[in-house]
This record gives sequence, structure tokens and C-alpha cells, in this order.
Amino acid sequence: MKEKYLKYRKEVHAAALWLSEHGYFGSLRGSGGNVSVRIDSENSMAITPSGVRYTDMTDGDIFVVGFDLELLEGRQGLKASMESEMHSAIYRKRPEVKAVVHTHQTYGSVFSVINMPIPALFDEVALSLGTLIEVAPYAFSGTSELARNVEAVLSGGANACIIQNHGIVALGASLDQAVLNAELLEKTAKIYHLALSSGKRLTTLPAEAIDIIEMIRKPADAQ
Ligand SMILES: [Zn+2]
Repeated sequence: MKEKYLKYRKEVHAAALWLSEHGYFGSLRGSGGNVSVRIDSENSMAITPSGVRYTDMTDGDIFVVGFDLELLEGRQGLKASMESEMHSAIYRKRPEVKAVVHTHQTYGSVFSVINMPIPALFDEVALSLGTLIEVAPYAFSGTSELARNVEAVLSGGANACIIQNHGIVALGASLDQAVLNAELLEKTAKIYHLALSSGKRLTTLPAEAIDIIEMIRKPADAQ
């Protein structure tokens, strides 16, 4: 194992464990969901393995995979995450993204099965995630089609999306920020679900607030 990859392995393992312990993968005993971080100055990522329970996982189980899906480092007998192609497609499309988190979190998954995007409800959340959390169309887990569907929805610059009948994806300029964005999405989805269930009329952010947020979120070179 190369020394240079060690910090990335530790970081991915710690974030995956935190998400698992906080119920973001939907089952405490399962191995669903996956976490990755971009390796600096390389076209590669450190990513969780496939089929390993988070409670049993070690730093040494984390894989290093090229964006062309070439295996650079990994434990014999294990495989890298089945969603590696989805992660690499996002890194290729969004050079500023440094980490990707894919979860099966409960409230985000509610909107994945009612196939409904989440509008901008809170300015602080919209600043982090974008002014619309869209739903990427369903494709079977682990397929190139799913990778393409998610990549297409996230190409607009949002830092999160829902995957139809599956779960969510959150991105960030650091792994800590990607995890925070998954948390912000779960908070928003929970509140939106409760608000819709109340039967009362709900309000979204006014158009002026959306304009301000979109201006702030625009990359500097596009302004
Ligand atoms: Zn999944």
C-alpha cells in the first residue's frame, strides 16, 4: 500500500463509518451506499469497497481506483464499490468536486419513490446544495446508465440530487462538506415531507432570494 494514499483511505473510512452510524445507509448491518474522495493531482479516487459491512471495514479495505476505473490499489478478494463509475463520472464532469457521498437515507429516499424534486425552501441550504434538488431517472444499481443519468442531473452545478427509487448523491469541495450536504438534504427532505403531510399551503423561497443565491453560487469565471 502506498503511503501517499493512506490519508485518503482513513478519510473515506471515517466518513463512511459516521454515515453508517447515523443511519444514512438505511441499514446498520448492510453495506449499501458508498463514499469517495478525489486524490489530489491524480485522475483517481479512494472509494469504499463493495459488500463490506461498515462496522467490519478497515482503512486497508478502501480502494484506489482511476477515473478510467483502473484498479490502482485494493485488497485481494474484495471489489471496489459497484458505483465507482458514477463517482468517476461526477469527478470528470465537475473538477471542483473533491468528494462524493451516495446514501440510502430515509427522507431523501421518500422523494426518490414519489419521484419529486425538492425546491429551495431555506436560503442556507440552497446556497450549499443549489436551488433545486432534482431527481435522476432510475437505472439499475451499478450500471453505466445510472452513472450517465446522475452525471447529467449534476452537470448544472447542484451539490446534491435524488436518484429515482434508490437514494441520493451529495457532493462537496471536501469530504466533510459532502457529508454535511447529505445531512442538509436529509433535514430539508424531512421538513418538506412533514410540511406536505400537514395539508397546509407551504411557501418556497421568493424569486428574488433565488436570484441572489444563483448569483452567489455561480463560478467566478462565469460572472
Ligand atoms: Zn445505492
